[in-house]
Amino acid sequence: FAKQFGLGDKAVGNFTSGGSEANFTSIIVSLTRKFPDYVMSGLRCLGGQPVFYCSTEFHHSFEKIAHQCGLGRDAVRLVPVTDSNVMDVQAAASMIQQDQQNGMIPFLINATAGTTNSGLVEPLDEIAKLSKRYDLHLHVDAAWGGSAVLSPTHRSCLDGIQHADSITFDPHKLLSVPMGAGMLLVREHQWL
Ligand SMILES: *Cc1c(COP(=O)(O)O)cnc(C)c1O
Repeated sequence: FAKQFGLGDKAVGNFTSGGSEANFTSIIVSLTRKFPDYVMSGLRCLGGQPVFYCSTEFHHSFEKIAHQCGLGRDAVRLVPVTDSNVMDVQAAASMIQQDQQNGMIPFLINATAGTTNSGLVEPLDEIAKLSKRYDLHLHVDAAWGGSAVLSPTHRSCLDGIQHADSITFDPHKLLSVPMGAGMLLVREHQWL
């Protein structure tokens, strides 16, 4: 699957019980990647509030994850959506700048590829550019939409997903695997 998504030669993955655990793992992986001291000293070593960005069409597992891992639910910065119901990337840029000015520490942006409510894919290329500009870990939550990668007709819906640092994908959704089966794929094996 890492190859299908175009993640490159050094990519690896972990099976999880589902998309929520995969999203959880993406937060732990990205905190560890960005803040090596987090591993032994925890979030208090950071001297500021780490925050991450999702559009209001995100999967709500991220709120529980922020709670569970000690970031707190306020660490989920909710970006408004455009009239097309996908992340407003301009608004995301303004929020990131504002948060940095207020002493927060942005570390990740999540793009949903196949939103739970309406099946829309957020603008992956634009969000990837933003993640580069602000040095954020780019996570793509493709829990169910990721299945499009297997379809020659529909895989272009996911253009841009190859820029992801990590991807959530759930074989127990459209692939109908009859048991809890999710996965987290990451671009660099040492991150995992
Ligand atoms: C279903 C879904 C999840 C959560 O997956 P579970 O397997 O239920 O834990 C996460 N993100 C999106 C976009 C989903 O559709």
